[in-house]
Amino acid sequence: MRTMTLLALLLLPLLAVPENAQAEWRERTEAIMGTRIYVELWADDAAKGDAAIEAVMAEMRRIDELMSHYKPESQLSHINARAADEPVQVDPELFDLIKLSLHYSQITEGAFDITYASVGHLYDYPHHVKPTEAQIKQALPAVNWRNLLLDAEHHTVRFEHQGMRIDLGGIGKGYAVDRGIAILQARGFQHAVVTAGGDTRIIGDRMGRPWVVGIRHPDDKNKVITRIPIVNSAMSTSGDYERYFDEGGVRYHHIIDPHTGHSASKVRSATILGPTATQTDGMSKTAFVLGAEKALEIINRMPEYDAIFVTPDGRILYSNGLQPPADAKADKAAAAPAGAPEKH
Ligand code: ADP
Ligand code: MG
Repeated sequence: MRTMTLLALLLLPLLAVPENAQAEWRERTEAIMGTRIYVELWADDAAKGDAAIEAVMAEMRRIDELMSHYKPESQLSHINARAADEPVQVDPELFDLIKLSLHYSQITEGAFDITYASVGHLYDYPHHVKPTEAQIKQALPAVNWRNLLLDAEHHTVRFEHQGMRIDLGGIGKGYAVDRGIAILQARGFQHAVVTAGGDTRIIGDRMGRPWVVGIRHPDDKNKVITRIPIVNSAMSTSGDYERYFDEGGVRYHHIIDPHTGHSASKVRSATILGPTATQTDGMSKTAFVLGAEKALEIINRMPEYDAIFVTPDGRILYSNGLQPPADAKADKAAAAPAGAPEKH
């Protein structure tokens, strides 16, 4: 009895104090790569947590310097300026991401194509600028990922067609998110989220509960059409509401059909779940170009991916790996967020 009391007395202070009094969630938001970067992590030590967040932000800035098509001094801009005339040597990192982009062109049947920029650069959404049909017709032959020649030995990139351009806006943020997560993992963090624009990756859970990520209604950023619990997964959402203008009843937005040079409008939004953000980013444009049914076919063939598409008529379509909520209609789902789909 006496020993038990003593033991209880000894244990009591230990039980009352949390395992680590310093541990807490740390977070920060910054504007990098023309988008919102968000990092949140569970840190045993606040200073170490903040230093890790700064390291992730620094990595985002580094990737932007290397790969931005807006920065004239980036290696990507050098490719665009010279690769139609001669092979351009680039860092292995950039070379590998361009090579991976060709892989996504292959598995998406050309829906994802970084040479879309040959016509894509003619659009300026904030200023409501779009190309004429004649301009599109002239630029379109330069859009073709097969005309992007890579020499793995010399790390060179060459364009087989004059007027070709590439941009990595459709995969660079996913890649940057994965790099950010790798930095956090190397420093021992086990619960974190890194987001760049529409691309997010999560490691661990939120202390015994999943992270819950909402998918917004295409026409109302304050409405959520469904919520998904996520643990250890990446997720990319593409939407026609991100960068766009409306004119004459047509929405001109930033996802371009490489076959037509027009905005790709077969879905309003597409969310892809998968192991890494580079992968989910590479896949999130597909349904806009190929349509939800065809994109589902592709996703359902790849067991590590899941998808949620919102069609122009407001339907929500789920891949086989997701259990739809009891009532999946766009209008009603907004009022029933509790019916979140579970991953099998
Ligand atoms: P976010 O920029 O928020 O990550 P997305 O992942 O939807 O958004 O990517 C959209 C970007 O992808 C566009 O701004 C453009 O840079 C690029 N893009 C547009 N159409 C294509 C396409 N068919 N193939 C590859 N990239 C594309
Ligand atoms: Mg993206």
